[in-house]
Amino acid sequence: MIKIAILGAGAMGSLFGARLAEAGHAVTLLDINDAHLDAIRRFGLRLQTDEADRRVHGMRALRPEQADAIPELLIVFTKSMHTRAAMAGVRHLLGPDTTVLSLQNGLGSVDAICEFVPAQRLLIGVTTWPADLVGPGHVHSHGEGGIRMMSADGVDRPAVAGTVAALERAGLHCTADADVWAAIWEKVAFNAALNPLCAVTGSTVDQLGNIPDGTALALAVVAEVLAVARSQGVAVDAGKVGANVLHAIGHHIGHKPSMLQDILAARRTEIDAINGAVVAAARRSGVPVPCTESLLQLVRLIEARAANGGQGASPLQAH
Ligand code: NAD
Repeated sequence: MIKIAILGAGAMGSLFGARLAEAGHAVTLLDINDAHLDAIRRFGLRLQTDEADRRVHGMRALRPEQADAIPELLIVFTKSMHTRAAMAGVRHLLGPDTTVLSLQNGLGSVDAICEFVPAQRLLIGVTTWPADLVGPGHVHSHGEGGIRMMSADGVDRPAVAGTVAALERAGLHCTADADVWAAIWEKVAFNAALNPLCAVTGSTVDQLGNIPDGTALALAVVAEVLAVARSQGVAVDAGKVGANVLHAIGHHIGHKPSMLQDILAARRTEIDAINGAVVAAARRSGVPVPCTESLLQLVRLIEARAANGGQGASPLQAH
C-alpha cells in the first residue's frame, strides 16, 4: 500500500484515484474545483463504470495548499496547459523520494514537471482509459483501458516496478515499456490529426469521413508528426497509427474529442502540448509540417476569439 496524491482530480484523476483507493491505497485528491472537492467530501466520489455505479469513500479531497502529507507517488492529471501552475502549487509536497507520474496527453508536460523534479524521479506514459466528468463528484468511465509507462530518462528503476504494481493492483492494466516514447509519439500523432480537425470544423470523429479529403488530411498530419518522431530517433509504427485513425473515423460515431468539447465550451485546449509541441520539435529538426502547423494556427485563432469575448468559440456557433 502506498501514499498517493492525484494532482488534478477531474475526469481521469478521479477515476484513477478512486480505483487506487478501492485497491487499498491511501489516496489524496488535489484540485482547485471547489464544487467537485466539496461533493467528494460530503458524499464520496460517484464512479460509474461497466461493473458498477458506486460511491467511493475514504479519499481525502483537498486544495493543494491545504495538503501537507508528502506522497510516495504523485500522479499528474491536469490538462497539459495547467501542469506548470499545478506543480508550483504542490512544491511543498515533493519529498526527496516522491515519484511523479504523468499520463497526460501531448508532449508539453515532461518539460514542465522537470522544472520541479529531476527526470530520474519522473515516470511518463500513455493511457487508453477513458473518463468523463459528469458533474461535481461524479465520474463516468465506459470500457477497458491500459497504461504503458517508463522513467522519463529511460532507466528501469525500482520505482517503475513499484508504480506498475500499484496500478495493476487497482485493475488499471499497467505495463513497463522501454518503447514508451514511441507510444507517446504515436498517441500524439493520432491526437494531432483528429482533435484539431474536429475542433476547427465542429465535426464528430466519424464526420471526418464524410468526404475523402477529411480522412486524407488526418493521414497527412499523422505522416508529418511521425516524420518528426523519426527525426528524433523514435521508432514509431506508421501502419498502426494510420489503422487507428481509420478505425476511429469508421467507428467512433458521434464522438466529440475533448478539444472540440473545450472549443464548444469556450475553454482553452491542449493544442500547444500536442500540435504546438510537434511544430516546435519539427523546427529544431528541420522537418516540414504544414498541415500540423495550419491546424495549430486555426485552433489558436479560435481560442483567441473566445479569450477576447468573441461570440461563441466554435465556427459553427458564430453564424
Ligand atoms: P479534466 O479537465 O477533467 O481534469 C483536469 C483537472 O485539473 C480539473 O479538475 C481541474 O480543476 C484541475 N486543475 C487545473 N488546474 C489545477 C491546479 N493548478 N491544481 C490542481 N488541479 C488543477 O481533464 P481530464 O479529461 O481528466 O484529462 C487530464 C489529462 O489526461 C489530459 O492531458 C488529457 O488529455 C489526458 N487524457 C484524458 C482522457 C479522458 O478520457 N478524459 C484519456 C486519456 C488521457
